[in-house]
Amino acid sequence: MIGTADIVIVGGGVHGCSLAFQLAVAGAGSVVLLERSCVASGPTGQSGAMIRPLFDQRVYVELVIASTRMFEQWDQIVGGDAGFVQQGFLRITNSLDSAEIGGDLALTRLLGEPVEILDTAQLAELVPMANFRDGELGILFPRGGYADPYQATVDLAAAAVRHGAQILEETQVTGLRTKSGRMTGVETTDGLIATSVVVNCAGPWSDRIARMAGVELPIEVQPAPTCLFRRPREMATVGPVLSDGVHQVYLRAVGDAVYRAAHFGRAERTLDPDLFDRSVPPEQQQMLRDGIAQRYDAMRRTPSLGGFTAIYDMSPDGHPMVGQLEGADGFWSDCGWSGNGFAPAPAAGRALAALILGREPDVSLAGFSWPRTVDLGSRLYPDWIHR
Ligand SMILES: Cc1cc2nc3c(=O)[nH]c(=O)nc-3n(C[C@H](O)[C@H](O)[C@H](O)COP(=O)(O)OP(=O)(O)OC[C@H]3O[C@@H](n4cnc5c(N)ncnc54)[C@H](O)[C@@H]3O)c2cc1C
Repeated sequence: MIGTADIVIVGGGVHGCSLAFQLAVAGAGSVVLLERSCVASGPTGQSGAMIRPLFDQRVYVELVIASTRMFEQWDQIVGGDAGFVQQGFLRITNSLDSAEIGGDLALTRLLGEPVEILDTAQLAELVPMANFRDGELGILFPRGGYADPYQATVDLAAAAVRHGAQILEETQVTGLRTKSGRMTGVETTDGLIATSVVVNCAGPWSDRIARMAGVELPIEVQPAPTCLFRRPREMATVGPVLSDGVHQVYLRAVGDAVYRAAHFGRAERTLDPDLFDRSVPPEQQQMLRDGIAQRYDAMRRTPSLGGFTAIYDMSPDGHPMVGQLEGADGFWSDCGWSGNGFAPAPAAGRALAALILGREPDVSLAGFSWPRTVDLGSRLYPDWIHR
């Protein structure tokens, strides 16, 4: 077992691995990431991993744009293949009103990311297998798309190791040690690591990790059901992510033969992240199919491949908690991403690594500090989670 480390990261999801990579690249000293199972075994591995620069708050748009630039040059920057399919992200809508679309198009444009507005005829040309009603519009982010969340995360972990970090899988954090208000160590199933810096990247388990240091983090774990369908013969998986704001459902390809689909938003039920039903009840699968079939006739007849229920780590206002926490010096968090955390993760890791090392981050994360010091507005459109 490793006896000491300069920085210990708890959790090997996309945020922990991104941070480990960025810290190692920045020459942060000895960086150790502890993952109780395997890398990307939590919600990260089940993520839709859709990427769109549409939010109300500048910080998300900046992070998603910076991450998109990384996905575009993944092999040079990180190494490997994040499975980035950059065929655009299409939001179908009745209105361009920001409350309805869950984001600020002016902000996206101001930050230099292209946006195209499509009328009904242009929509029908782009997505010929869909039915559109007169007046429906499309908002196309041509540089958006989706990645492979598992592949991206294992690439980040491998790159972190190449730059000198250590990733210990099947190693659970069981306790945190503090002395006179400062972090002093991490207890694990494999022994104690002395350290003065701990970063909590444990997603839905991050409140439990925080409690080990005597810090309360208000994380609620909520279900995120997703269904899988065979691609009907009449439909093509080539093309943008189909995010249908009118029927509140998205459809995105998984390879050539399968689509994944889910309703927008979240179910306000709380779960135990270690003890919940991972299936999707048949009536919920049917509701989802009915929603998609309103737009795509062929989806009415295609075989269902079932579904899975994953989980979101929801914060009280729907925004993440990123930065140094009050209560124990040297205790940091990068959690509570509330269903929106994949797309910003590569750039968020870079900005947080800079903060931990006392450097100026390229994107300010001040809005995500916990307790909040900057007003980010009320809840982040809870009905628009990751769509
Ligand atoms: C179904 C679904 C679809 C999504 N779609 C999108 C999308 O399209 N776009 C988007 O941007 N975001 C999306 N998200 C959100 C995004 O996937 C998450 O915000 C992101 O993956 C969270 O990553 P993380 O690293 O913070 O946490 P996690 O993936 O939760 O990782 C936390 C890790 O901590 C480990 N851990 C826990 N306790 C301990 C312990 N005691 N010791 C050691 N390790 C521990 C866990 O095993 C886990 O691997 C989606 C999420 C879900 C569930």
